[in-house]
Amino acid sequence: MRFVVPVLVLVLAASSAGQGLAAGAKSERTRLGSITPGAKALIEGRVVAFDARLAGDELRTRLVVDLNRKIDLTAFTLSDPYRVIVDLPDVTFDLPAAAGRQGRGLISAYRYGLFAPGKARIVLDAKGPVAIDKAFVLEQMDDQPARLVIDLVQTDRQSFIKKAAVEMVTETITAPVPAARKNDRETPLKRDGLPVVVIDPGHGGIDSGAIAPSGEEEAAIVLAVALRLRDRLERSGRFHVVLTRSDDTFIPLAERVKVARSNQAALFVSLHADFMPRHEGDARGATVYTVSDKASDKEAARLAEKENKADLIAGLDLSAQNDDVVGILYDLTHRETKNFSALFARTLVGQLKGAAEMHRTPVKSAGFVVLKAPDVPSVLLELGYLSSPEDVRMLASDAWREKVADAMSAAVQSFFANRVAASGNR
Ligand SMILES: [Zn+2]
Repeated sequence: MRFVVPVLVLVLAASSAGQGLAAGAKSERTRLGSITPGAKALIEGRVVAFDARLAGDELRTRLVVDLNRKIDLTAFTLSDPYRVIVDLPDVTFDLPAAAGRQGRGLISAYRYGLFAPGKARIVLDAKGPVAIDKAFVLEQMDDQPARLVIDLVQTDRQSFIKKAAVEMVTETITAPVPAARKNDRETPLKRDGLPVVVIDPGHGGIDSGAIAPSGEEEAAIVLAVALRLRDRLERSGRFHVVLTRSDDTFIPLAERVKVARSNQAALFVSLHADFMPRHEGDARGATVYTVSDKASDKEAARLAEKENKADLIAGLDLSAQNDDVVGILYDLTHRETKNFSALFARTLVGQLKGAAEMHRTPVKSAGFVVLKAPDVPSVLLELGYLSSPEDVRMLASDAWREKVADAMSAAVQSFFANRVAASGNR
């Protein structure tokens, strides 16, 4: 109990010092004991966004975000699709769970979250071409919190394109930004003969992935399973395991492929749990995907199209990206990589059958960007569908996650055993 007292005193101090805590308590998302992430961030002296709302109409729409103190921002627009990007220093979002899901006026929806270590971002989806009329942050005053305000007005496509990606900087960012975490995902591991397995939990940070009607988010589910799989593989002592992300951070698709290639991975496993509208064949159960330039069916095509949009969702300007990945990747002449991917897909389905509900067509293929490393056998596992209430119950269950991580670990071990056997026969 002794440890609890100082924390509670701090919570009360933070609470009486201003706003934030009461609003922060609204968020039921990830409570740490009885302290919300927002309250914890306040105690740590960080910037917290604790409420947000849209106001206005189709001619002029305003986004207001309440903060515990003033920060600086950068705002700009991107086209195809029309988006407004607001870049911020390290802000902890403790908004009500429904924030951003419903639009108003010129905005159809918005997302928020970590975009990179120490950098937060808000991405607003616009219904059509918009211009940023004003973007500023008001100082905290008496009982008023600090307020971030973005005013958007309707414009036409031509003026939009002219202005798109021209940054509107209110001030240079002066709020303390923590030093970027060292990125060690891409530092190749010391070679000691052990194969490298890269586990890729999809989405993260500002891109939460699919969301179940009951609120479960794809990014959190796949991370939980990835961490369990990592522990099992590491415990076996037979592999080096690298995660493309081990926390709630956004990672661009190309970067995920880069992690696999720079580590000379022997296997890349991407984890997802998507949402399929009902008419798309009542999808449920686990499905293993390999890459192909032609999708095996319509559901696979839709899914790849959706997953490949992750960078757009996070507000990346794709026109400015080099197409390293896309360039090499459509060249699928690497027969060995393809064969090993197919072998692992079959092995994985075999192991998962005992542990999880399988989709009626458990192996499919489509043009997933993350599977396109020419030299790394790669599969994408849809653990289940957040659109299916039965699947959601499983995906949210610890017992199910343990069972599936066991099955995946067994599949990885069996795959490498078969690979060694196959090379020995040559
Ligand atoms: Zn996904």
